Amino acid sequence: MAGMNPFEQQKQIPNVKHIIAVSSGKGGVGKSTVATNLALALSQHAKVGLLDADIYGPSIPRMLGANQQKLSFSADGKIQPLVKFGLKIMSIGFLVDENAALIWRGPMLFKAMDQFFKDVEWGDLDILVIDLPPGTGDVQLTMAQKIPISGAVMVSTPQNIALTDVKKAIDMFDKVKIPIIGLVENMSYMLNPINGEKIQLFPKGDLESYLDSKKIQKIGTIPFHTQVSISSESGIPIVEANPNSDEGVAFDQISKKVISFLKL
Ligand code: ADP
Repeated sequence: MAGMNPFEQQKQIPNVKHIIAVSSGKGGVGKSTVATNLALALSQHAKVGLLDADIYGPSIPRMLGANQQKLSFSADGKIQPLVKFGLKIMSIGFLVDENAALIWRGPMLFKAMDQFFKDVEWGDLDILVIDLPPGTGDVQLTMAQKIPISGAVMVSTPQNIALTDVKKAIDMFDKVKIPIIGLVENMSYMLNPINGEKIQLFPKGDLESYLDSKKIQKIGTIPFHTQVSISSESGIPIVEANPNSDEGVAFDQISKKVISFLKL
């Protein structure tokens, strides 16, 4: 029917206990990196799926070394998620060529999103982590409204230019009454490899005072480290490649906070 939004009929995903969204105001702050490593860290403690709904830049297949893999379908036509490092994954990147600019709009986009939730055989999951596209457009708002999301993890870099946009994303979740689990400050600092001194890659802005005023917890601080980007590039994220690194340990601590928020 013209103008009908397929999400109107959206219900709980069967056998999925909790859905959490990973969101950011801007692109490039490390949202997909956090979503992927957080999902891997969570999978040490729970049954976890990862849905890459970043339709404008689906990078999770590549980060998990699964970009060449093909989806399979069950006899009743359901999509089987791929399994990588014990994690069930699904991405729009498995459906369209990663180089193709995604120009879908409106109904076609919502149909694809709808399929992610209805036609993927997730099986029993404690947590489905959704990597949302950055910002606060139609897709984000529709998902936030129509899927039963238990909470959102916000990702930002420290500076005010990133904060301005993350505030808008937090306002969006407030409006649709989705609790903010907490904020992960990514690329918070870098350690000088020669003398171990902290280098501030981005100037510290008003993030701390803003979080205080909104009573939002900072649930983690991830430094900038080339081993984070190199491991993502090679398809073995840092939590898998080097769980005992500072960043690996930081993701594990974040995952424990998420688990305690969800009371799992
Ligand atoms: P977004 O999803 O917000 O657009 P990505 O997760 O794709 O951002 O990250 C953008 C780039 O920054 C990627 O190349 C990623 O490997 C790199 N990156 C993200 N976080 C870190 C970090 N903590 N240290 C080093 N590189 C990082």
